Amino acid sequence: MNKRGHVLNAVFLAVGLGFVLEPAGDLATFRTIAAVFVPLVLGALFPDVDTHFGKHRKTLHNLFVLGIVAGYPIFFDNLQWVWLGVVTHYILDVLGTTRGIALFYPIWDEEFGAPVGVPVSSDFSDAMMLAITAFELTVAAGLVYVLPEYLPDAGASLPF
Ligand SMILES: [Zn+2]
Repeated sequence: MNKRGHVLNAVFLAVGLGFVLEPAGDLATFRTIAAVFVPLVLGALFPDVDTHFGKHRKTLHNLFVLGIVAGYPIFFDNLQWVWLGVVTHYILDVLGTTRGIALFYPIWDEEFGAPVGVPVSSDFSDAMMLAITAFELTVAAGLVYVLPEYLPDAGASLPF
């Protein structure tokens, strides 16, 4: 997926998460959207830094990097929600494109994809991005409403 696709995916995901986490459509909804919007977009942009530093779809497209980013809220109490932007970037590259990513780099160079993706330059890449975003929001809603006991308190990380 190109930068435009990753940014739009993160934007739609942020807005959708606002309504999944605070469905009333009131101030709390928009406060949640504001809280997750920039971190999600930054996280969604981060992995493709490896187009200039390292090996693309390998150096910053793996579980080791995701673990580091996900550790920041736990160990430093910052970068909340950035990990989710990285996750959505990985999902979009794996499900939405024909190439896949090297999830286990640097231990294993193999790039893993799914047979449902389209070429990055395809006329269908926007439709694929929207379908994957809808899938992600369905999973998020399922977690929030069906399996809430497995989630951290999302509101607890908001500073207001
Ligand atoms: Zn990527």
